[in-house]
Amino acid sequence: MQIKILPSPYRPDPKIASLGAKIGDAVKAAHFPLTILRFRNDRWAGTVGLDNLKDEDWLRHFGRFEPLPDNMSQPLALRYHGHQFRVYNPEIGDGRGFLFAQLRDGLGRLLDLGTKGSGTTPYSRSGDGRLTLKGGVREILATEMLEALGVNTSKTFSLVETGEQLMRGDEPSPTRSAVLVRLSHSHIRIGTFQRIAAEGDSELMERLIEYCLTILYNEEPSSTSAAQLLHLAVERVADLAASYMVAGFVHGVLNTDNINITGESFDYGPWRFTEFWDPRFTAAYFDETGLYAFGRQAEAIHWNLGQLAVSLRLVCEAPPLIEALERFPTLYQQAVIDRFLWRLGIGSQGKTRDRELVEAAERAMVLEQIPIDRFFQDHRGGRTVPAESLGERRAAFASILADYRNPDAAQHRYWDDDAPCSMLIGEVEDIWRAIAEQDDWSALYGKIDAVRRMGQAHG
Ligand code: AMP
Ligand code: MG
Repeated sequence: MQIKILPSPYRPDPKIASLGAKIGDAVKAAHFPLTILRFRNDRWAGTVGLDNLKDEDWLRHFGRFEPLPDNMSQPLALRYHGHQFRVYNPEIGDGRGFLFAQLRDGLGRLLDLGTKGSGTTPYSRSGDGRLTLKGGVREILATEMLEALGVNTSKTFSLVETGEQLMRGDEPSPTRSAVLVRLSHSHIRIGTFQRIAAEGDSELMERLIEYCLTILYNEEPSSTSAAQLLHLAVERVADLAASYMVAGFVHGVLNTDNINITGESFDYGPWRFTEFWDPRFTAAYFDETGLYAFGRQAEAIHWNLGQLAVSLRLVCEAPPLIEALERFPTLYQQAVIDRFLWRLGIGSQGKTRDRELVEAAERAMVLEQIPIDRFFQDHRGGRTVPAESLGERRAAFASILADYRNPDAAQHRYWDDDAPCSMLIGEVEDIWRAIAEQDDWSALYGKIDAVRRMGQAHG
């Protein structure tokens, strides 16, 4: 489930230009009073040939945004619309970020370097175009944890503190500022399609579909390319929804502008991991109805895909789009099972048995209040905990699990740790407090190391 890290030389390929002038607006980065390097992701920098940059050059590119060689000459604030909490908003777009560069990774994929907090754009509305340092630290933690749990996520590539004082309603203010760079498999969102549909620009829609198929999915476009793309997106995004569940992750803001056409998870704001398998657990304080609660994420994501289908109607009849959409529930359910088995480190014993196993696991976690991370640690490789500590529900799970032994999967020393590596809100706040109060970054760096070690243990 994890995407392999494959080193590559630097291979610039700014393909975005092929989409023409209406995909985004040329913008400039803000001039920041300071650029202090706080995090560079050399693991992933190596996949795009940028790990050998000296820190001063890193800051020139990812703090002051001097173009990379033979790459985009100017950053582009990408245009998009979106449904926010089911309300259509045509006013959004890259309001505090831009596409900075495009380059190939070791697998040949075209990846984007995009920013968050790099200054105002034509889409900033009343916002300041900035990112808080706490927001940047939280995005590092989310992406590292999700990657280690096998979720297809954008990577936090760089975090640079920028020396400004920001005012925010949801942080003690003034608060410190930062600019983040993410490495991601495209920044084409469902909202990108929505904007083009709203403008009735079928020529650009066709071009965007072709871009997604040929460049992002490496597929030859068929005569029904819109439906072909929707099928691919449904497959990837159903798996993404399943991966959130098995990770115990609540994204918090599953708006259509936060869903990438490649199915890669991105844009982390008020996210949380849930300790328990609690469908009602909600991440964002402003999500008053629990629209994006833990147990409603699949439904929210499926609804978003429906909006993609609506947009694609501009160039495609309804029946083939509906056919693609209708595959979502089955794909999602199978992906939950596949990912559950992956996290337990065990193989399939047939669809029916696998489903029984997962249902028994959910029942045990819910009814016996076993923390999710603890549960997966206890049962890694099909092992179980001493019988006397098993409740009735967990014993039922364990008896199914007995058919699934795979001790090799529990060989890494991580699996013998007393406690699993988690990412619950209390610890996230503690990591931030050390930075805010003592400028002590050691807890953050220590946590990144611990999370990466867990990622290695997952293999
Ligand atoms: P998000 O909730 O982060 O996906 O953002 C939704 C929209 O608000 C996007 O258009 C963002 O670019 C914009 N936005 C969020 N924060 C700011 C900010 N501080 N300044 C300008 N625009 C922002
Ligand atoms: Mg967003």
